[in-house]
Amino acid sequence: KGVNFEKYDDMLVDVSGSNPPPPIMTFDEAALCESLKKNIIKTGYVKPTPVQKYGIPIISAGRDIMACAQTGSGKTAAFLLPILQQLMADGVAASSFSELQEPEAIIVAPTRELISQIYLEARKFAFGTCVRPVVVYGGVSTGHQIRDILRGCNVLCGTPGRLLDVIGRGKIGCSKLQYLVLDEADRMLDMGFEPDMRRLVASPGMQSKENRQTLMFSATYPEDIQRLAADFLKTDYLFLAVGVVG
Ligand code: ADP
Ligand code: MG
Repeated sequence: KGVNFEKYDDMLVDVSGSNPPPPIMTFDEAALCESLKKNIIKTGYVKPTPVQKYGIPIISAGRDIMACAQTGSGKTAAFLLPILQQLMADGVAASSFSELQEPEAIIVAPTRELISQIYLEARKFAFGTCVRPVVVYGGVSTGHQIRDILRGCNVLCGTPGRLLDVIGRGKIGCSKLQYLVLDEADRMLDMGFEPDMRRLVASPGMQSKENRQTLMFSATYPEDIQRLAADFLKTDYLFLAVGVVG
């Protein structure tokens, strides 16, 4: 496992949309805080992959993004690093023991395995900081996950159904939500999660697309993903494609 950088060196990168920021060539250029830099090194990442080089500055600039890149290209860090950097710069700290948790970021992925990987990566990058990620998914009791959320939650990672479930229980508020990430968007559609995704963005108290930053990731870019992007993203979103996208 890991990134094969050699095969990326001659990969096509396409950014479309108005005024895209220039890519970064190194993680140093991303102007990350010390703890994040330290955690990246500990994770063993030395240089950014193409989707990270182009994606990180786009997200840090506050832009919505639809990013398409093949599996294994490093999409997770492309969205986690700029989100965590912003939350650390803002000095957010999870309010523990509060009966209402208001995460700054919600990340959605279609399966327990995929969302758990994202959560573990978020934990590694947030290690030693005040930012607290939490993960929820179906197939296990909700009560335990709710208790975990109530211990403090800045980055809520979840599968679509279980996220709707915990939000519906009134323990999650969206008034502080800055980031909504829809990862593996094509797989979510294939698995029949489109109604859940639409319910999620329409859930009570959810920030409108004008008032949040929405980041969509997908390995492919068929018509139904383009339609979702048009519905969920601001009209000036940037489209980033790395490699050959079907
Ligand atoms: P994707 O979401 O595009 O399928 P992942 O984010 O899961 O890809 O990354 C694939 C693998 O590459 C993971 O094992 C991850 O830890 C590793 N990886 C990601 N970015 C880098 C990097 N900049 N340097 C080294 N390894 C990386
Ligand atoms: Mg991924």
